[in-house]
Amino acid sequence: RKFEDAGLHPAMLANVKLCRYIVPTPIQEYCIPAIKSGYDVIAIAQTGSGKTGAYLIPIIDKLMGKAKKLCATRPNPNTYRPGIDTPARAEPLVVIVAPNRELAIQIFNEARKLCYRSMLRPCVIYGGGPVREQIEQLSKGCDILIASPGRLIDFMDRPSVLTLRRLRYLVIDEADEMLHDDWNEELTKILSGGEQEEGNVKYMFFSATFPKPIRDLAKTHLAETHVRLR
Ligand code: AMP
Repeated sequence: RKFEDAGLHPAMLANVKLCRYIVPTPIQEYCIPAIKSGYDVIAIAQTGSGKTGAYLIPIIDKLMGKAKKLCATRPNPNTYRPGIDTPARAEPLVVIVAPNRELAIQIFNEARKLCYRSMLRPCVIYGGGPVREQIEQLSKGCDILIASPGRLIDFMDRPSVLTLRRLRYLVIDEADEMLHDDWNEELTKILSGGEQEEGNVKYMFFSATFPKPIRDLAKTHLAETHVRLR
């Protein structure tokens, strides 16, 4: 199987090459068509399996075709003047929740490469990082937000900074780690904050293991689900 056969946007194919991905990994081979077809997805995938690309490639690909229209209502990061222009609140189309800062930054770096040749702008926020700087980044326009759960909740509680009104995709990465780290309550709050005005949010769960609490969360929040057990 090849990326060329996955029906990807030409700009995405070029970005995949830029990342030096030659053939899709098994989890990518499974997730790319499922997400492109509009399914919610649970994938049981370890770090190193290519799981980040498995959701970033199809989600960014789907948004790429419509990016011009989708990005028209948010600030232009190239002309935004910090301290002069009124900071706009972030209205991301995609939120990816990761259990810690290291993973969040890793996902952000991959998202940056895969958003190349599009107007889509990724941002990253995490606990322990400078709040003011993160708010400033968001106010320049944020289409894809990668966040640790605590900082995400913190910003969700400030409607002038962040709203999930336009959310279309909510990804929970390393869901089992979230439960180990006792982010259960935050996860539930984030997942129920995802029922948006414009409706029809797609949910993705990625987890190395599939214990009962994850199955329960998934059962509550996922619609038509594809389950892949390794
Ligand atoms: P992940 O499982 O998402 O943490 O990815 C593990 C590593 O595999 C990362 O360094 C990716 O850049 C790399 N990777 C992801 N997809 C592919 C692919 N299709 N071919 C080669 N490397 C990949």
